[in-house]
Amino acid sequence: MTEMNKEKSKNEAAVELETLRHSTAHLLAHAVLDLFPGTQAGIGPAVENGFYYDFLRDEPFSSDDLAAIEARMREIAAADAPIVREMLPKAEAIRLFESRGQTLKVELVREKGGDVVSVYRQDGFADFCLGPHLGSTGLIRYFKLLSVSGAYWKGDEKGVQLQRIYGTAFPTAKDLEEYLHLLEEAKKRDHRRLGAELDLFGTAEDLGSGLILWYPKGARIRAIIEQYWRNRHWDGGYEVLYTPHIGREILWQTSGHLGFYKDSMYAPMDIDGQNYYLKPMNCPFHIQIYKSRMWSYRDLPLRWAELGTVYRYERSGVLHGLLRVRGFTQDDAHIFCTPDQIEDEILRVLDFSLSILADFGFTDNKIELSVRDPKNTDKYCGADEHWVQAEASLVKALETRGLPYERMEGEAVFYGPKIDIKVKDALGRYWQCTTIQFDFNMSERFDMSYIGEDGKEHRPYMVHRALMGSLERFFGVLIEHYNGNFPLWLAPVQIQVIPIAERHDDYARSLVEKIKARGLRASADLRREKLGYKIREAEKQKVPLILVAGDKEAAAGTASLRVHGQGDKGTVDLDEFLTKVKSLDDRRSLTIEY
Ligand SMILES: [Zn+2]
Ligand SMILES: [Zn+2]
Repeated sequence: MTEMNKEKSKNEAAVELETLRHSTAHLLAHAVLDLFPGTQAGIGPAVENGFYYDFLRDEPFSSDDLAAIEARMREIAAADAPIVREMLPKAEAIRLFESRGQTLKVELVREKGGDVVSVYRQDGFADFCLGPHLGSTGLIRYFKLLSVSGAYWKGDEKGVQLQRIYGTAFPTAKDLEEYLHLLEEAKKRDHRRLGAELDLFGTAEDLGSGLILWYPKGARIRAIIEQYWRNRHWDGGYEVLYTPHIGREILWQTSGHLGFYKDSMYAPMDIDGQNYYLKPMNCPFHIQIYKSRMWSYRDLPLRWAELGTVYRYERSGVLHGLLRVRGFTQDDAHIFCTPDQIEDEILRVLDFSLSILADFGFTDNKIELSVRDPKNTDKYCGADEHWVQAEASLVKALETRGLPYERMEGEAVFYGPKIDIKVKDALGRYWQCTTIQFDFNMSERFDMSYIGEDGKEHRPYMVHRALMGSLERFFGVLIEHYNGNFPLWLAPVQIQVIPIAERHDDYARSLVEKIKARGLRASADLRREKLGYKIREAEKQKVPLILVAGDKEAAAGTASLRVHGQGDKGTVDLDEFLTKVKSLDDRRSLTIEY
């Protein structure tokens, strides 16, 4: 198969899957209207991994209801009713849905342009829809309803509240089974659940939604990540900055955020009669530092990084654990350089990103290159030649490293092309983390310049870059990827020391001191509990290494070692053990071979 044919059949398969899922959504609406007369159907599209359908009904759907609906869906599918498309004059379609009390559908038909609309029928069920659909309900075989949640008619939070039933469908039984298994695994690894079990982070009703509290153990991990991040940046030729959380209105007017980003910003606060805004992005602050003096081409490139906390408005319905929040800390950086330097800089930032992701265990990544829509180049800001050069430098970096990537035409933001890197987790799910993004807008708006070799002022190239994305989100991804079993270098407690009896407490304390003196993290469990219980607790807390000490060990200056997930490893000499652990920690080893 040629590359092009492969691409084509991939697209065809995607369309087929979407048609199957959307047809299953119709089947769902059909069953719901059969079983619950008086219910109104909203919209029911195919989505990533499945489909949903929205319903207007006073009573909430229970899990028993879902089972009954699924059973009814199977009956309708088994009857193999043909799915037929009909073109109806608009007035007739309106009469059809009115006669059935489907006023939401009537509203949708009314809003549709043209005189004729398409209606899909199967058995007694009719839906206003553009299609396409499968030929008959019998072709829908492997499906499952998954959950119910709240939704709003047309996404309007002040509008009518609906119930959204989610489900999924696949072409084969095996595909469905695999997906359901993945969902089970994902549920077990849910970072909100593990975050509570391992005492890592939380939220509080009185604090407000989407705002994260880092508990001591989570904060310990974050501090380790931050320290690592800073050291890597200094080693990598970056400088680290700190900037405030609020800035004057004029700053956000100049940056353009009050024009194109206002919906994501919080209301201003009045300080001495002036409006200040919480920052949704760090860039304008870094630009203020850039503009604090004049730069020569000899000073460039500048690479400035900040763990910058930003606040963005997200609707309460979309907030989700650590993954979607209202306040978060970006591992942000901006690179300012000359056009001559851009190729080297892009290659350098790409290598840097991949090397940092690899230290966290993410080596299987998906890379997307987002470029302009070639048919619509005037909706982007910045000179054409800059776009061409920027895109060429991104492509060149990817090709120099032989990295496969997907070219996404029309996916660039209006101010520049970009590379996005999605990491693949242990369950095979992709998470968007890294973004490397040109910006031809800000440098213009803030009138940034440097003095070139010719003694004249020139506009620097500006690149935004975040590697982990946000610390909150990245932490959520790490928790799920590792199922809470953090690698040694990230574990909040690396070694748990357990004395067998009270008389071994002093020895346990001395072990902890020795471990700490080597720059490793340890604690002793001195509670008056049974040994077995304390070991189980340490295992539950997923501490990578456990040292047990009794009379024999105290006398010999040794300990008995257990490795999490591997079990008993026998007696170890303490110095030898610590040298080995220290080396694993220094190398940021993702596994412990003992
Ligand atoms: Zn449809
Ligand atoms: Zn930026």
